[in-house]
Amino acid sequence: MTYTLYAEVVLPLPLPRVFSYAVPEEFVSKLQFGIRVEVPFGKNKRYSALVVSLSNTPPEGYKVKPIINILDDEPIIYPVQYQFWKWIAGYYFSTVGEVMNAALPAYLKLSGETNILLSPLYSDNFEHLSEKEYLIASALKNREEFSIDEARKILDQKTVMPIIKKMLDEKIIYLHETLKEKYKPKKVLCVRYAEPYASDSSKLAQAFELTKSAPKQTETLLAYAQLSKTKTDIRKQELYKMANSSAAALNGLVKKGILEIYDKNISRIETYDDDLAQAHPLTAQQTRAIGEIDRHFEEKNTVLLHGVTGSGKTRVYIEKIWEAISNGGQVLYILPEIALTSQIIGRLRQIFGDDIVVYHSRLNNNERVEIWQQVLEGKPIVLSARSGVFLPFQHLKLLIVDEEHDQSFKQFDPAPRYHGRDAGLMLANLFKAKSILGTATPSLETYVNAKNNKYGLVSMPDRFGNIMLPKIFLVDLKKEAKEHKLQSHFSSFLLDEIKATLANKQQVILFQNRRGYAPTLTCNACGWYSECKNCDIGLTYHKYSDNLRCHFCGFHQKLPHACPTCGTQPLTLAGFGTQKIEEELKIFFPQAKTGRMDYDTTGGKTGFERIINAFDAREIEILVGTQMVTKGLDFDNVGLVGIMSADQLLFFPDFRAAERAFQQMTQVSGRAGRKNKRGKVVIQAFQSTHPVIKDVMDGQFETFIQRELAERKAFGYPPYMRLIRLTIKHRQYQNVETGAKLVAHILNRGIKGQVIGPAWHAIPRIRNQYQMTILIKLSRQKGILAHTRSILDQAIVSLKSQKGLSGVRVNVDVDPY
Ligand code: ADP
Ligand code: ZN
Ligand code: ZN
Repeated sequence: MTYTLYAEVVLPLPLPRVFSYAVPEEFVSKLQFGIRVEVPFGKNKRYSALVVSLSNTPPEGYKVKPIINILDDEPIIYPVQYQFWKWIAGYYFSTVGEVMNAALPAYLKLSGETNILLSPLYSDNFEHLSEKEYLIASALKNREEFSIDEARKILDQKTVMPIIKKMLDEKIIYLHETLKEKYKPKKVLCVRYAEPYASDSSKLAQAFELTKSAPKQTETLLAYAQLSKTKTDIRKQELYKMANSSAAALNGLVKKGILEIYDKNISRIETYDDDLAQAHPLTAQQTRAIGEIDRHFEEKNTVLLHGVTGSGKTRVYIEKIWEAISNGGQVLYILPEIALTSQIIGRLRQIFGDDIVVYHSRLNNNERVEIWQQVLEGKPIVLSARSGVFLPFQHLKLLIVDEEHDQSFKQFDPAPRYHGRDAGLMLANLFKAKSILGTATPSLETYVNAKNNKYGLVSMPDRFGNIMLPKIFLVDLKKEAKEHKLQSHFSSFLLDEIKATLANKQQVILFQNRRGYAPTLTCNACGWYSECKNCDIGLTYHKYSDNLRCHFCGFHQKLPHACPTCGTQPLTLAGFGTQKIEEELKIFFPQAKTGRMDYDTTGGKTGFERIINAFDAREIEILVGTQMVTKGLDFDNVGLVGIMSADQLLFFPDFRAAERAFQQMTQVSGRAGRKNKRGKVVIQAFQSTHPVIKDVMDGQFETFIQRELAERKAFGYPPYMRLIRLTIKHRQYQNVETGAKLVAHILNRGIKGQVIGPAWHAIPRIRNQYQMTILIKLSRQKGILAHTRSILDQAIVSLKSQKGLSGVRVNVDVDPY
């Protein structure tokens, strides 16, 4: 067989390069950049891969195989997306295949018929697999590929998804996926005039003549005539509703050849049917901010919009969005949490209607494919979590990063471990688009860039309506305890303030950054405490499910009656989480309606929305929550915010602890008194003299940031230095130690930076994997990152080639959070 065309493709595997395939004659005319093709790889395995370039000369050095099939008619990305993937892969020490996996929506769900196959990168080393993983892996070795249903039979158990999911996450197996098989358009039945009425409306009088003896049919036809004046594709159900009729009447009309029924492919994405509203007139502060942004944009691509909580930043974004889309541009608006999208989208939909779509991880796969296609076709505005940076924009003009300081912009697992804000800025750069980073509490990184004139800086120091920022009270818990004024976790001051707020018919938010009921169960006699059997960490007691749970691996067990070591009973619950706070509220305020917003109550696509809407509608008077309640939410009747334990935020073994504590306390305070009336905040703390608390109380961002920057500089941390954190993992303790020492040794000899560690991770064992960390500190000099990567790649290769160490994994996190 001779070929005239060759295609380079990206495989959905963590491979460092692209691969060439021959294009059979029948596909030559259809082949182009950005379409997906099915290719063989490894021993008899097939993958869907993405075409990234074409050439007439065969690659040298290996025998090419032909493409098996073409999966798309049209490209699913533009060249700029591929450039972006390459940048992410390079900067975050990942591979283009991994970035592609993160970027493209999983066109399929894990369904019973989905086939799984063994990764060709996964050598024969099965030794660190669990027993069940081993059974699946070895069966795949013999049989190449089989369905998930088949895996059920092999393991002789119903629940296999968690095992499959874990093996997928660890890249032991892959899914056999194709776009065509999986994406199914959604159809509805619609009604229209049949011929000759469709093309000749003068004949309609005759149609009414035909229904004279059937009044229900007449009504239905009238309703149709009415609806069709303003709409096309009228659904059967709509017609029934309008005519107050049923299928019988419509069927009659169809039989008489007046109307006909047809299938219509519709979008799963909700459409906005209400009337559009005018945006509010701008305040003087907003007008000034917009003017300053425009002036900065003449020379700079990025502006930091530093506006206090409730200053009305959203209205400024709206103005800039208008401008961008009316010039034919697209806008990407990213937020750190999907919880926030539900509130913001309500505000933006009123103005932009169906010009805006929402994209995040809780959408189902079909919905994600539809949004992908809408963006590909030029949808003007996307509101999304960090993954929105991967959507196939073609004319991006403006990027908005709201709450830019938020740590949830960072992807943790799996690779690529990218930062939504930083990746977004790179994307904007590729498009020569402008970016606005908005926040009340800028990250140190961004603030330094603004101070160094790399970014423009625009401030909005006043709240909308000139309402004052909340008054903050500090309660010294040590003193309260000494004076016996502390009732469990509530100071008498906080209790009084809650009471007064409720009496004023205002609402309360209580912030406690720990979910569950109590984080430790201990024996006072022998010191035993409940610990996860898979991880080196305590189990949290959950009252509603009445069990102990591990927040890392999900392991749970019944509460022991007595100490398993010495038999003492009862055991003591120590510490407190959101469930306990909610329970205690019921004792102190039996009449009040309480609600809780944390990971346990916000599952599903609408979990957040339910709670946010209930609080907005004042069906909840006191809302208890984890960090989820601290972020950009906008309620108009919150009189009081309580921070249950500032200590817990401040004393955290991490160089960002102070920054994070300042941000969280300032942000959660910002939920109070946003409209109408000044609000109050109560901070409870044992270490009440901590300087960060003082800065929060005084609203002294500048004091805080100068002190913090000085410390970062003195100890060599970001934003002055760049960090890379390596996590070395294996089931065998000894292998982790040996492997980590080897990697550190090679790095030490090769890189132009500092290597710290290896040291055991704060939680030495998670999910039965031991883990050590190595921290690399680099200067921000150009080229140093690429050099470090080449040394690290060498280190990993030599690690994997050591006898017994091939299964040791090294996760790389550039700019860790
Ligand atoms: P931020 O994001 O800066 O914390 P928001 O954009 O949420 O603040 O605005 C705070 C509140 O003020 C919101 O309820 C918003 O509707 C209101 N608001 C802001 N600007 C205007 C305006 N120009 N006219 C009327 N209301 C406004
Ligand atoms: Zn005991
Ligand atoms: Zn665990």
